Amino acid sequence: MAISKVWIEDGCVACATCNGICPEVFEILDKAYVIETADFNEYEEEIKEAAAYCPRSIIKYE
Ligand code: SF4
Repeated sequence: MAISKVWIEDGCVACATCNGICPEVFEILDKAYVIETADFNEYEEEIKEAAAYCPRSIIKYE
């Protein structure tokens, strides 16, 4: 199913795991942020992988 929304809940420890997996969607400043202009569908697999590997399990998508 297509991903239309990606967000990060509170508790990011800025480990950069998500950025390492998918820098096209996740950027790290003081914490991780979703790049809202990214094409979420093009990176669907990477978004799911980043969510699975986030040590805080705070990456959400729908
Ligand atoms: S993987 Fe999770 S905890 Fe690590 S930077 Fe990304 S959102 Fe934050």
